[in-house]
Amino acid sequence: MKKTFVELQNVSFKYNSRLVLDDISFNVNEGDFLAIVGPNGSGKSTLLKIILGLLKPKGEIKLFGEPFTSFQHREWIGYVSQKSNAFNSAFPATVKEVVQSGLTKKVGLFKKLPKDTIKRVNDALSAVGMDKFINRNIGELSGGQQQRVFIARALISEPKLLVLDEPTVGIDMKNVQSFYDMLGELNKKHNLTIILVTHDIETPSNQISHVAFLNGRILFYGDIEQYNQISKEQIYKWYGHSVRAM
Ligand code: ADP
Repeated sequence: MKKTFVELQNVSFKYNSRLVLDDISFNVNEGDFLAIVGPNGSGKSTLLKIILGLLKPKGEIKLFGEPFTSFQHREWIGYVSQKSNAFNSAFPATVKEVVQSGLTKKVGLFKKLPKDTIKRVNDALSAVGMDKFINRNIGELSGGQQQRVFIARALISEPKLLVLDEPTVGIDMKNVQSFYDMLGELNKKHNLTIILVTHDIETPSNQISHVAFLNGRILFYGDIEQYNQISKEQIYKWYGHSVRAM
């Protein structure tokens, strides 16, 4: 039986007195590739921060079967934040340095890297199709290439779950599909469970297995076949659904 990696039950969250997440319940199982879709301000980043343990909500959360408060293995969750791919060309770090900085056990920046670290950097970069760029400056790369490098940075700690906040922002339209294909390969070939957040309702690609449509509340949760049967009109209605009406 598949393990449940994330379990949310009746989760609610307020900033000061303002309710931004209301009664959220769903599970993420091992092997899922979940897209959390919703407009700007719908609570997507807040929900990710809750899963990452950065905010404390009401309700019940379990991570890898353990109650949230006693969960000890933060390194099992890799995270790439929003706009991590926005370095300008003068930024003085190589791709290798960026990826290596993701190691939980740090290697001194000016020390020679041990052989196994170099192998891990290479493996992480080749998993995202960026191994040929290892000695390039991060700022010289396109938005999509930078995003891949930051995913490699998260992969180097060998997480079981990868969490991505708006990863397609800053990626050229023509490159979005190949970006999703790369994530699909991480999901299927490397058996990595993925949660990503997007405000782009057109995005859910053929690589995604499940969709949660969020607008303060979960308006839909199901697998991609069920999501694809929903009419565009309905999805646009959800998109416009006001959180303030809650
Ligand atoms: P999304 O990621 O879907 O754009 P967010 O989770 O960032 O949505 O925000 C949800 C709501 O919470 C928005 O109305 C936003 O203005 C508000 N919000 C986000 N962060 C804070 C904060 N630190 N303090 C107060 N309100 C916040």
